[in-house]
Amino acid sequence: MGDRVATVDGHQALVNRVAELRSLLNRASYEYYVLDAPTMEDAVYDQLYRELQELEAQHPQLITPDSPTQRVGDRPSSQFNSVRHNIPLYSLENAFNTEELESWQGRWQRIVPTNDFEYVVELKIDGSALALTYEHGVLVRGATRGDGTTGEDITPNVRTIRSIPLRLVGDRIPAIVEVRGEAFLPLDVFEQINQEREANGEPLFANPRNAAAGTLRQLDSRIVAKRRLDFFAYTLYIRAGDGNGESAQQLDLGIEMNAVEESVEHPRTAILTPKSQWDALEALQHFGFRVNPNRQLCPSMAELKAFADHWEQARTTLPYLTDGLVVKLNSLALQEELGFTQKFPRWAIALKFPAEEAPTVVEHISVNVGRTGAVTPVAELKPVSLAGTTVSRATLHNADFVAQLDVRVGDTVIIHKAGEIIPEVVKVLTELRPEHTHPFHMPTHCPECAQPLVKPLDEAVTRCVNEFCPAIVRGALIHWASRQAMDINGLGEKWVTQFVERGLLHSVADIYDLTAEQLQTIDRMGKKSAENLIGAIAQSKQQPWSRVLYGLGIRHVGNVNAQVLTQAFPSVEQLAEADIDAIAAVYGIGPEIAQSVYQWFRVSAHQALIQRLQAAGLQLAGETPAASTTSTPLSGKTVVITGTLPTLKRDEAAALIQQAGGKVTSSVSKKTDYVLVGEEAGSKLDKAIALGITQLSEAALLNLLSNI
Ligand code: NAD
Repeated sequence: MGDRVATVDGHQALVNRVAELRSLLNRASYEYYVLDAPTMEDAVYDQLYRELQELEAQHPQLITPDSPTQRVGDRPSSQFNSVRHNIPLYSLENAFNTEELESWQGRWQRIVPTNDFEYVVELKIDGSALALTYEHGVLVRGATRGDGTTGEDITPNVRTIRSIPLRLVGDRIPAIVEVRGEAFLPLDVFEQINQEREANGEPLFANPRNAAAGTLRQLDSRIVAKRRLDFFAYTLYIRAGDGNGESAQQLDLGIEMNAVEESVEHPRTAILTPKSQWDALEALQHFGFRVNPNRQLCPSMAELKAFADHWEQARTTLPYLTDGLVVKLNSLALQEELGFTQKFPRWAIALKFPAEEAPTVVEHISVNVGRTGAVTPVAELKPVSLAGTTVSRATLHNADFVAQLDVRVGDTVIIHKAGEIIPEVVKVLTELRPEHTHPFHMPTHCPECAQPLVKPLDEAVTRCVNEFCPAIVRGALIHWASRQAMDINGLGEKWVTQFVERGLLHSVADIYDLTAEQLQTIDRMGKKSAENLIGAIAQSKQQPWSRVLYGLGIRHVGNVNAQVLTQAFPSVEQLAEADIDAIAAVYGIGPEIAQSVYQWFRVSAHQALIQRLQAAGLQLAGETPAASTTSTPLSGKTVVITGTLPTLKRDEAAALIQQAGGKVTSSVSKKTDYVLVGEEAGSKLDKAIALGITQLSEAALLNLLSNI
């Protein structure tokens, strides 16, 4: 009976979810296509759409005619005259990774079993599709895609786009030429438009794609002309004769050699009779169109993947947006054989670049106590693939953040992850909230040591202030043993947790009292492993003073600051005795860091710790490893790092700079020689620009270093 109720409930939950997804996606589509003002990220739309598609595939009885899965495009006609497309404009199926691409290949090969093929891979330009018609070489019509069958006649606006020829180039032009391509706004123009709109108090465009779509549907062509839209052509259909009475069927994939050959008026030329997409692109170029130069013929998946990997990174250097690649079978004969589904060509697919945002469901909210005692709520998620990795946890930062978002167990949330940054929950889709959910409240007591938690009124962070809290002890030990600190091989989270549980370790100094016999009392720790670990611990005593200081985990003392401090204070005594001013006087050390270091050495437990470490024979004084002595382009130069670098972690970049004789500091001043700039660079970059300091990209840095 209980089970039956659960099943009925489960079914109702499913029906609700499908209905809610449908209404959420329909609203998003309306905002996107009709208002040109989306409120949802494309990647989020795509994934929710996919969820709906999957649920509908499993339960076809839930499909309704108003489901967004049942339409090609969503844009209803507006103030413009509508035009019927002779050849429908299809959408593209999406693949989100190379496995999906391979499965698409499997699907089309089952229809036409052949291994004799190649792909043309083009950039997927993030703009708005246009269908252009030329009669006897003259542009007579420009239309939007609309719902794929019917679009809007926006010819006067299309005429303002400089890269669309009003008359085709060449003298042997077929009677009718249909061209499809993407109108888009270059990024700099987009930014300029938004700046102007802001100045005029008008609402900003969410992204260049919607700005392009909105511009194309402006009633006043003079405004369109000012907006400097651009256009890349990618599809060519040719038709001989005058076009009267020919059906869409006959036009289907109109690049027919015969059709052109039959035309007495317009004898065929090599250019006008492409047999492949590649040749069609070349032909378009000869007709006077801009064709995106970043395209490649790929005879196999391997080339295709390499091209995709390259553009996933390189796309950020382009002056316009691309959200993926379009993979097309090159042979038009093969394309014709495969044909179309209701919505897509079977011979083409879009490979979307990994998204930085995705929707998923919160299965549980846990709280994590870090090494500084900070208590962080964490959303445990239904695993989702994001920016190339599978994400199953995302930070909820702190109590205020949770309260503001009102995120609850069961909620569908949007998570964001960029570069190396830990994923975070950025939004709750309350429309998809199931019934009977409860707001989340931070615990009042530490989940690890049961002591009351503290939240200072002026701080967002809730903390456990019990120095003996196992979570804090564990965090400190893991940090101490980490690669960049004391680098104790084998002493990772797993063993640290067990040693703390067994009462063997209470502080980092205890590590140096461990014996192989003690270690062997721990489950699954064999004699050999125990001896190896003791060896690694002994070896760590040779780590320089700068690493010891970093390993202590003093707030704000990362490994760059630790190096800077140990250069200025070559022994622990000197640093422990220094007053705040003396510490803050060190180049690159700000007052906040100085305060934190000064305070740390005033705590008697910390003084006792230093004494024990000294007694254990650790290096608490000595030269910080000298930078390279040979002269390099970075010798004596001061570099500040800002933003997330494409491949290097900050620490790695800092180490490279230091090895080359450079110095890394944390704040920009007139004395800074270079700023190494990554993605999402912050105020440091603004300051560097204001001071006219030379910027380096990671690639430029590596280039400089490769010449040493
Ligand atoms: P699409 O944009 O994903 O792909 C098809 C389009 O790609 C074509 O129409 C064409 O305009 C374009 N394209 C660009 N370069 C191309 C090339 N070289 N060759 C061929 N085509 C090329 O599909 P769509 O049907 O236009 O739009 C659906 C997409 O719109 C969804 O995947 C979603 O990301 C987005 N959308 C977002 C929201 C939202 O709220 N954010 C709402 C509705 C739709």
